[in-house]
Amino acid sequence: NLPASTSINDEEEASGAANTHVVAHHYNELKEAGRKERHKSKIYFMRNFNNWIKSQLINEYMALIKQQKRIGDALRVLDMCCGKGGDLLKWDKAAISHLICTDIAEVSVEQCKRRYQDIAQRADKSKFGNKFTAEFFACDSTMVRLRERYKDASLQLNLVSCQFAFHYCFESLVQADCMMRNAAECLQPGGYFIATMPDAYEIIRRLKAAGPDARSFGNDVYSIEFEGNANELPLFGAKYQFHLEGVVDCPEFLVHFPTLVKLGRKFGLQLIRRSTFAEYYKETLPQGRHLLQRMSGLESVQPQRCGNDEQFAHVRKTVGTQRGRAVGTLSKSEWEATTLYLVCAFKKCKNSWDA
Ligand code: SAM
Repeated sequence: NLPASTSINDEEEASGAANTHVVAHHYNELKEAGRKERHKSKIYFMRNFNNWIKSQLINEYMALIKQQKRIGDALRVLDMCCGKGGDLLKWDKAAISHLICTDIAEVSVEQCKRRYQDIAQRADKSKFGNKFTAEFFACDSTMVRLRERYKDASLQLNLVSCQFAFHYCFESLVQADCMMRNAAECLQPGGYFIATMPDAYEIIRRLKAAGPDARSFGNDVYSIEFEGNANELPLFGAKYQFHLEGVVDCPEFLVHFPTLVKLGRKFGLQLIRRSTFAEYYKETLPQGRHLLQRMSGLESVQPQRCGNDEQFAHVRKTVGTQRGRAVGTLSKSEWEATTLYLVCAFKKCKNSWDA
């Protein structure tokens, strides 16, 4: 369990966004690795696996939205903290009609926009390509009301997606409140907010397992280090330094899940799913096996590596074989890193909650 949380004090509330510029700087400076470099990365298979988890999540909730709609109805999506546009092809495949992309890192937003233009150009040339309109802007989703930046502030969204980023807003209540409002306020009733983020319970479990006074843990692909006393963590601003091989090296914040759920409720969002990556993998594998094998870099054969955990062994077996042939698969370190995360989904019930 998480340590008992203290109540929100004035200082926490007023603390604001002391770390957002560090995060923005980190992502702005991040170089986009070429194909060859990506293949050589120690977390190559984990990145593919994470991508598959995102695809499964997007497909699951897009399918639910499509069930409520008539053919030809518009499908509008907000990709909050879109990064360099790693999910653009997923939106393309989901046959959406309009996409809003925003991120705090201007360099990433520019790259995302260019990627979108490439996809749109390809769709122009091919008669099979889907074409969706899109808008892009850089801004801090924890401080700015996003709808004021949309081309049409009255726009109604069907889906809001925030992948591997919502935890940044748990620096303070003010920021978390703003980000949750941004996720919820333009969603149509019946629409969904989906996210992936680190699982605070799992982080604390591993920290405790590392020793009573431990402040850090990790392996050769990731590390987590708390600055102060990890036995007295606040509800907001529970800061740790996260390092992930070649991709992330910046401050992050624990997301106290009951607080996240409460914040969602404030804006009319009801929690309908919370699953760890390991659980979600197991649950959605029957429908996603083919896609997983396609997305797992099957051309690069990995040497056998260690692994004794039951779930990990299952992933190795599933991802690692195709027609009996050994192919690329996750290392144990990658599995440990990916199982730090959870997926969650909220349904927009109404515009305010009188609980
Ligand atoms: N969602 C993308 C994906 O799945 O590929 C990017 C994930 S990346 C791990 C986290 C992203 O969150 C970065 O692009 C970063 O710039 C963005 N981010 C962090 N804090 C933010 C904030 N306060 N407002 C908007 N974006 C933020």
